[in-house]
Amino acid sequence: MTKPFSPIDLHAHSTASDGSLSPLELVQRAAKRGLHTLALTDHDTTAGIAEAQAGALQQNTPLQLIAGVEISVTWNNQTLHIVGLNIDPEHTELQAGLQQIRAERELRAHKMAEKLEKTGLKDVYQSVKAFAGGGLISRTHFAHYLVEQGRASHVRKVFQRYLVAGKPGYVGAQWATLEETLHWIKQAGGIAVIAHPARYKITRTRLKKLLDAFKALGGQGLEVVSGSHSLDDNFQMAQLAQYYDLLASMGSDYHGAAHFWLELGVLPALPAGCRGVWEAWS
Ligand code: AMP
Ligand code: MN
Ligand code: MN
Ligand code: MN
Repeated sequence: MTKPFSPIDLHAHSTASDGSLSPLELVQRAAKRGLHTLALTDHDTTAGIAEAQAGALQQNTPLQLIAGVEISVTWNNQTLHIVGLNIDPEHTELQAGLQQIRAERELRAHKMAEKLEKTGLKDVYQSVKAFAGGGLISRTHFAHYLVEQGRASHVRKVFQRYLVAGKPGYVGAQWATLEETLHWIKQAGGIAVIAHPARYKITRTRLKKLLDAFKALGGQGLEVVSGSHSLDDNFQMAQLAQYYDLLASMGSDYHGAAHFWLELGVLPALPAGCRGVWEAWS
C-alpha cells in the first residue's frame, strides 16, 4: 500500500526539544520529501525556529516555515498539548511562559532521575542531560537513556515499563493552564490548536468539555489529522471540528528516528468539509 502524502505538515520536532534532527536537518528533509509548508513545533521552546527559518530559505524548492510551539498544559489534572501556529517567537509574554514550563521540566527531570536511581542506576540526571544535548529534557531523553542501559529493547517498551503513571520513573508535573496558554499564543499573534485530540485517554464527554472550554477561551483550531491518529480518529475529529466551528490542522508529529513510526508529510488529506488552519494566515 502506498503511503498517503501531504505537502503541508504543521507538527514536527527538532533537537531543540525531543526530535532527533537539528532544525536545519529537519527543513532539509522536509524539502527533499516535497513539502511546501512545515511548522516547527518543539515542546515548550522556540529555540530552533531561527535556524529552521534560515534553513528553509536555502532550499532549492520553496518551503514555507511556520513558527510554532507545542505547549504542555495541565487541564483538569490531565496533560494536554496545545500547538501555537504562526506565532511571533520573540514575544516577551510567550517567552516568559515557556521559560516557566521549562523550569518545571528541570525540576521534574531531577525528581525522575532520583526515582530511577532507586532501581539501581547511577548519575541518571547527568546522563539524560547529555542525551538532551543542551536542549530541554523530555521523557523521550529518559527513554533513550534507559534503552541504552538495556532496560528495554526500544523506546515504546521503555515508556510502558518506566515512564507512564504508576511506573518507577514517572513523576507528574504542573504545566501551564489552558487559559494562560491560549493567552500567550494569542498575544504572540498565533492560532491555538489542540494537538492530537484523539490520543488523550479521556471520554467523549470530557473531550467535549475540553472543546467547550477551549472555544470559550478563544481557541481556534483542532489537529484533525495527526500522524498518531487512525483514519477513523481523523473522521471523528473532523466532525467535532465542524460542530465546534474550529479550523482543521494536520501534522505528523515527526520526531526523527526517536519515533520511527512517524514521517514528515505522511498524512492523509483533511476530510471533506474541514477548513484548513492555513486559511488564517494565507
Ligand atoms: P514529556 O513532555 O517530557 O512528558 O514527554 C512527552 C513526549 O514523550 C511526547 O511528546 C512523545 O514524544 C513521547 N512519548 C510519550 N508517550 C510515548 C510512548 N508511549 N512511546 C514513545 N514516545 C512517547
Ligand atoms: Mn515529543
Ligand atoms: Mn504532543
Ligand atoms: Mn508533538
